Amino acid sequence: SRQFTRPLNDLANQFNTLFSAVAGAERVFEIIDEEEEKDDVASSKLGEIVGEVEFKNVSFSYGEDSQTIKNVSFHATPGETIALVGPTGAGKTTIINLLARFYEPNEGIILIDGHDTGKIKRNNLRSKMGFVLQDTYLFEGTIRENIRYGKLDASDKEVEKAAKMANAHSFIMKLPNQYDTVLKQDGSGISQGQRQLLSIARAMLSDPSLLILDEATSNIDTITEMKIQEALYRLMNGRTSVVIAHRLNTIQNADQILVLDNGQIIEKGNHEALLKNRGFYYGLYNGQLKQEVSS
Ligand code: ADP
Repeated sequence: SRQFTRPLNDLANQFNTLFSAVAGAERVFEIIDEEEEKDDVASSKLGEIVGEVEFKNVSFSYGEDSQTIKNVSFHATPGETIALVGPTGAGKTTIINLLARFYEPNEGIILIDGHDTGKIKRNNLRSKMGFVLQDTYLFEGTIRENIRYGKLDASDKEVEKAAKMANAHSFIMKLPNQYDTVLKQDGSGISQGQRQLLSIARAMLSDPSLLILDEATSNIDTITEMKIQEALYRLMNGRTSVVIAHRLNTIQNADQILVLDNGQIIEKGNHEALLKNRGFYYGLYNGQLKQEVSS
């Protein structure tokens, strides 16, 4: 299928398309579904979810080559934060790709609230998730419209409330036309950090039980970085979050850290437990992670 030949740098685009599902604008997905993601006739829809996530012995390979994900199992109870850490190429993004059903496991099963996600319509599944990713999808339109993408029938008041919760309101109010400022499609005119705050506002507005986050740390000034952290903390509160984590703060506060290497979970536990282990995470923490924080 075409999915298996899709180049790596298309992943960001796939995620961008996701926001239409979050927004309830399912049209884009219907097109995708028709073209390359045919759902089984028997597939069903999820109702309200509480956000329980389970991977049971999931293995996956993008092609004929060796397995990218090997026998991965974990269980998140509703409201928990799961941090995925590990070197580049370890399989963190792939786990998220599988959770959002851009790819199907070759073995094993992924459950949300006890339902096999392989049997859920893809656009319905994705509409239950909020995404805050490194490259925020913005379209040519006003700031207000861009936030409202999280919930198309939201009132102006709701949009502003979400922006306040996301620490985006103050920078928006300093723009020439405030909420009516028109953004270019490439997001130029506002900073990368501000784009993230908008994406957090959008997710806040869509109010999902399950969040998928890919933390970005580059090109963000310290003050905006603090605003993002605080906004993310608010967003994640009371929601299940699966985070590709780069910030030490997120990792230290996670209920479970899954340490991935070469497609496998090599360690699992919270920060304290993993430090006590004196294993891979301990080394990572004392080397790479600490450097990131001090640099
Ligand atoms: P991480 O997010 O931890 O950096 P990824 O999940 O992106 O790791 O990648 C895991 C492995 O899968 C890497 O070897 C990567 O090259 C490979 N990979 C990722 N996406 C694709 C793809 N679309 N097609 C083929 N191989 C891929």
